[in-house]
Amino acid sequence: MTKLLKYISVTTLFLASLVLHAGETATFLPESRLVPGGVAVIKVGEGKKRPVVTYKGRKILVTKNGDKWFAVAGISLYDKPGKKYLKYANRKKSISFVVKSKKYKEQHITLKTNKHVNLSKKDLSRHKGEKKRSGQALTRWSESGQPDLKLLQPVEGRYSSPFGLKRFFNGQPRRPHSGLDIAAPKGSPIVAPANGTVMIASNFFFNGNTIYIDHGYGLVTMYCHMEKLSVKEGDTVKKGQLIGLVGTTGRSTGPHLHWGVALNGSMVDPLIFIESGEEK
Ligand SMILES: [Zn+2]
Repeated sequence: MTKLLKYISVTTLFLASLVLHAGETATFLPESRLVPGGVAVIKVGEGKKRPVVTYKGRKILVTKNGDKWFAVAGISLYDKPGKKYLKYANRKKSISFVVKSKKYKEQHITLKTNKHVNLSKKDLSRHKGEKKRSGQALTRWSESGQPDLKLLQPVEGRYSSPFGLKRFFNGQPRRPHSGLDIAAPKGSPIVAPANGTVMIASNFFFNGNTIYIDHGYGLVTMYCHMEKLSVKEGDTVKKGQLIGLVGTTGRSTGPHLHWGVALNGSMVDPLIFIESGEEK
């Protein structure tokens, strides 16, 4: 073989390996935000085998980027700032990271009726059942294919209420806002932000017409106050597929979509997964 030929064949091999790796690097990794309501994106290994990693005893999403594995762990709004640990399953090894505090804004809302503030016995028991179903859906773990962390914004519109907002209804403190509100005209189409399976498509007391989608590896999204549901429980949905229409059902003061994103059972800021998203 001449020197030139040798050079060409080596280059071709090198290029071929680049192409192969390009296929593997398709995964989008969100930015690490080490605050309550954020995500910890941490390298957890290399090689072929996906490491099994847990946070607070719960399995977390691990995805490949290049030839490296990254854990993407949801940090709960209720997690106290300080040192946290990712643990490898069946190994004593752990990786630490530090969660910093974040001050979210406050908002006081006046509701015309007290129906959704002081609940009747019947409504309270209904809500308890729905809360249990919701909790089970948000902590679901399933595995298929590669996780898709680059989400589509499910509806066009203005961000009317940010994630993490501390709210008071008629003077009574409530839990912080666990999703992002997007204001849009009644009837606006809502699409699935990634492939997944519909776990819940039902009417809830507070959340009105609601959908929960399982995207796998602990990534679950929810859609509330919808006017109409276009999918049913058990349906498989494709990224960009219509799932329903914007409405104002349940405890809502006007047409909007409440969009929630859960990772390993913790609600996190949906904007983390929208590349073009901006913080307000
Ligand atoms: Zn909301």
